[in-house]
Amino acid sequence: MRAMVLDAPGRPLRLADLPSPTPGPGQVLLEVLACGVCRTDLHVVDGELPNPALPLIPGHEVVGRVTGLGEGATRFRIGARVGVPWLGWTCGICAACRSGRENLCQEAGFTGYTLNGGYAEAMVADQRYCFPISEGADDVATAPLLCAGLIGYRALRLAGEGTRLGFWGFGAAAHIIAQVAAWQGRQVHAFTRPADEAARRMALDLGCVWAGASGDAPPEELDAGIIFAPVGALVPEALSRIAKGGTVVCAGIHMSDIPGFPYRLLWGERMVRSVANLTRRDGEEFLALAPQVPVRTVTTVYDLEQANRALADLREGRLTGAAVLLP
Ligand SMILES: [Zn+2]
Ligand SMILES: [Zn+2]
Repeated sequence: MRAMVLDAPGRPLRLADLPSPTPGPGQVLLEVLACGVCRTDLHVVDGELPNPALPLIPGHEVVGRVTGLGEGATRFRIGARVGVPWLGWTCGICAACRSGRENLCQEAGFTGYTLNGGYAEAMVADQRYCFPISEGADDVATAPLLCAGLIGYRALRLAGEGTRLGFWGFGAAAHIIAQVAAWQGRQVHAFTRPADEAARRMALDLGCVWAGASGDAPPEELDAGIIFAPVGALVPEALSRIAKGGTVVCAGIHMSDIPGFPYRLLWGERMVRSVANLTRRDGEEFLALAPQVPVRTVTTVYDLEQANRALADLREGRLTGAAVLLP
């Protein structure tokens, strides 16, 4: 099978011809139909996340078709369509796993980071962490839901019940979650890079009530904020825009350092928190919700061999919406 392989962080991915993997006990073998490109892939490839399992096939927004079953894998039949998310394995016995917080499992395995992912023609996945995908759904449109959608949805939940929201960074995750928030009757304010007129236009198209450049004052005080951009300087900026008691959620796995800021920005019971990974419950909830909205994803498609170009376009902010690789 063809695959894009990371040999060492900081190096471009290498196109390789590898033997197709063999599904182990409880695993399914998948033909990859589409794989989204997430900002986390960029953090892995650029070496901002420690200890990837090298050599590594990245990719954790996978829509695939089951083509083989490992021993005891009975959950899906051959030919079924499934989605593979970032959470690829958990221990099931640690304190986090036993308290419904498997997203915080110390032993967790992550697709496209500590487990091989979907930048390939085929992959294996533990059947327990796959999601069923309906036959009617479009592969390319569905792929970004599997991380940008799922983890974005978890961030939205952690932002609380307030109705006036601010989203900083309007890429793959924000463009999906803005539609969910608008459908829930909330007012989303989108903050983008100053030069990114296209992102502001997309935000307004997708139901945001206001779009401006980060640093601009929104027309009203906000109840909560979600920072999707990996930029620590946005934390004090977002805190300065939210009401007392409001939460600022940092939705990315990596962020540049947060600069010092005056205590008065946090005063008034404002909170700053991160969101880490996902639970299978987040996935089930979100994937049931997405068709009701219905969520419309804006995508740019690349061939598998163009993965380096897709990553570069994401790094340089040249993308509108989400990038998806087609093997
Ligand atoms: Zn655990
Ligand atoms: Zn991701």
